[in-house]
Amino acid sequence: MDADVLICGLGPVGQLLALLLADLGVRTIAVDEAREPHPLPRAAVVDDEVLRIFQAVGLDQRILADAQVQQTVSFVTARGRAIPALRPVHGDLGQPPLVSIHQPSMERTMVAALQEREAAQLRWGQRLEVLDRRAEGVTAWVRPVEGGRATRLDARYLVGCDGGRSAVRGRLQVPFGGSTFVQRWLVLDALVDRPIARVPHPCFVGDPARPIVTLPMSPGRHRWEWMLHPGEDAAAFLDRDRIDALLAPWIGDEQVEVERAVAYTFHARTADRWRAGRVLLAGDAAHVMPPFVGQGFSSGARDAANLAWKLDAVLHGAPDGLLDSYEAERRPHVTSMQRLAVRWGGLVQTTAPRTAWIRDAALALLDRSGAREWISEQAKPLPTYRAGAFARTPDRLPLRRRVGSLFPQPDRLDDRLGRGWAVVASTPEAASGWRAAGLHVVELPHERDWTLLRPDRYVFACEDRPQALRALRATVGSGLRTGRPAMAVAA
Ligand SMILES: Cc1cc2nc3c(=O)[nH]c(=O)nc-3n(C[C@H](O)[C@H](O)[C@H](O)COP(=O)(O)OP(=O)(O)OC[C@H]3O[C@@H](n4cnc5c(N)ncnc54)[C@H](O)[C@@H]3O)c2cc1C
Repeated sequence: MDADVLICGLGPVGQLLALLLADLGVRTIAVDEAREPHPLPRAAVVDDEVLRIFQAVGLDQRILADAQVQQTVSFVTARGRAIPALRPVHGDLGQPPLVSIHQPSMERTMVAALQEREAAQLRWGQRLEVLDRRAEGVTAWVRPVEGGRATRLDARYLVGCDGGRSAVRGRLQVPFGGSTFVQRWLVLDALVDRPIARVPHPCFVGDPARPIVTLPMSPGRHRWEWMLHPGEDAAAFLDRDRIDALLAPWIGDEQVEVERAVAYTFHARTADRWRAGRVLLAGDAAHVMPPFVGQGFSSGARDAANLAWKLDAVLHGAPDGLLDSYEAERRPHVTSMQRLAVRWGGLVQTTAPRTAWIRDAALALLDRSGAREWISEQAKPLPTYRAGAFARTPDRLPLRRRVGSLFPQPDRLDDRLGRGWAVVASTPEAASGWRAAGLHVVELPHERDWTLLRPDRYVFACEDRPQALRALRATVGSGLRTGRPAMAVAA
């Protein structure tokens, strides 16, 4: 075998998956038909869950050094009144809940880190052309983009992280389920000599004549997005005078240099299956969504964190069925995120003046009543799964879930938990019981005697130790990794 895992596609999701796998010592080859990371900005924001995944690979501080923390997101009504739609205050995940980033800088940081990982090999300029699935492995043929002979690569598993037009998904003949949302927007990225005074934080402008989204990106950068109406010629909007006219209302003394302007069609689509034997799909290859809630890459990053430890466990002897829990856990979460993005997009994209008036009146009412804050806090799907690789079925109600939820992170707890399974114990007795069973334990008072965490920091169990141990053995078998190299769980 050339590798344990072959990744097709070195966009941000493939990069993050390669980092997570390499840190677990999984021999990984990642190929991309491009010669280097995509140079133009796409994702504009990431959330605390994603920063926590960056923390797991030691990159959160480097990513944050090139980012801007956002404290408010506003909705601007048709009459120009700004209503705070969201105040992303510090949650309990140990990272800022909303930061603006510059995707190419973020990708460069990840690629530089990958170059330091011995377990990962990056092969740029190689296009995957043929894929052959067998019981014991996967064979891919990749060809240099400039032509020449194809090379054969054998791996135990292959993950298609090759974006919305995924060649891997195509080879598997997996349909990319019907688009629930199609809308064209003009996206303009600019370099600015100082923050744009009229847009101190992300703003959704519900002007029915032309809905707009505008936000500060990483320091020195700003984005504007204008909705295109049906029948409007996108090319006409790329004209310099037209762009200047669109920008004029927003700019005071600032110097603005347009980096690029491009028309995008936003979709919401999901692949019918995310796994076919030893081939899996992740990131945009598995699902795409409109960018209104900034969750396209973020959803792919969660896929990578969910999949990496499961691949590692299966490679070390865990039952193959563990990989089925990847889609079982991630798909409902992605569906909720897509629904939120489509609903929020619908609210912003209203073009009928009367509907916009009703929307704005309702928002103003909610704002006055105080309900707006509560609704916006509840709107984002929680980091919890309703079914999957857990000691017992998670509670039906997301707010009541312990098992199945992402564990909070006080004081950079994850840095002490290591890379594998770990127990957070409140009492010395609980700690010694779990240590005797071979688990890495961190002692920290919390509301339970102990909580057993998966390597992605989701709660696997928090009561009934014998049952938790049985479930752990059934889930990972000899593929248990707990702060030390893979080892067996004591009976
Ligand atoms: C305007 C806009 C705004 C956005 N805003 C946000 C946001 O604020 N927050 C957020 O989280 N997300 C946002 N997104 C979405 C985000 O950019 C994408 O979800 C993310 O880039 C997907 O990453 P990926 O790695 O899955 O795929 P991609 O970035 O598309 O990477 C796929 C890679 O696969 C390679 N590839 C394809 N085919 C082959 C082949 N046959 N062989 C070898 N390599 C191949 C490609 O060269 C590419 O490098 C936005 C997107 C857009 C367009």
